[in-house]
Amino acid sequence: MFGLERAGLLPGLATAAGWGAWWFAASLVLMTVAHDAYFYWTHRLIHDRRLFRRFHRRHHRSNDPSPFTAYSFDLSEAAANALFVPLWMIIVPTAWQVLGLFILHQIARNTIEHCGYEIMPARRNGRPLIDWITTPTHHDIHHAEAGWNYGLYFTWWDRLMGTEHPKYHARYAAAARPSTPPAPAALKAAAMVVE
Ligand SMILES: [Zn+2]
Ligand SMILES: [Zn+2]
Repeated sequence: MFGLERAGLLPGLATAAGWGAWWFAASLVLMTVAHDAYFYWTHRLIHDRRLFRRFHRRHHRSNDPSPFTAYSFDLSEAAANALFVPLWMIIVPTAWQVLGLFILHQIARNTIEHCGYEIMPARRNGRPLIDWITTPTHHDIHHAEAGWNYGLYFTWWDRLMGTEHPKYHARYAAAARPSTPPAPAALKAAAMVVE
C-alpha cells in the first residue's frame, strides 16, 4: 500500500482529508459493506469445483473451526481476499486511519466467527439480538455443510440469494441457550481431554 502511495496511485488520501469527519465515518461504513459484498461473491466463486482445490481447500480442512482457522488460507485465497484493499483505496478516497479501523474490525470479526462459541446474545424468542450480523453459529454451519452461509459480516447477501441454511435460526437458538445440555459428542471429547 505504501508502494502504491509512492507511485502516486492513491490521490484519494488527500481528497479524503478534505472531505472531513462525516466522510471519515461514511467511508468506514461503505468500505465494510463493500468488502462484505466482495467477500460473499468471491467466496461463492472459489466454492466452484474448478477453483476450490486451488483456492479454498486449506480453509475448509477445519471442519470444527477455532480462532486459528480464521487465517488458515491457501496463498491464492489470501491474495484474492487482500486484493480488495488496494482496489478500494485506488478507487475511493479513504484515509489511512479508516483503513486501520477497517482491518481491526475485519480481524476481530473473522476471529470471532471462527471462535467455536456462540457469543451473540439471544432475544427472548431465541433469535440473535442483531439478526443482520453473522454469528459464530452462522459460519460454523458453513464449515460443516459448505453449500450454505457464505457471508462474512452481514447476513443479508445469504438471505437475498437464498443461501442461508434453513436450520440456521434453530441451530443458533440451541447454541445460544446456556441451559441446553452439551451434546453427547462434546461430553465424550471433554472426557478424552481429561484422560
Ligand atoms: Zn471459515
Ligand atoms: Zn468456504
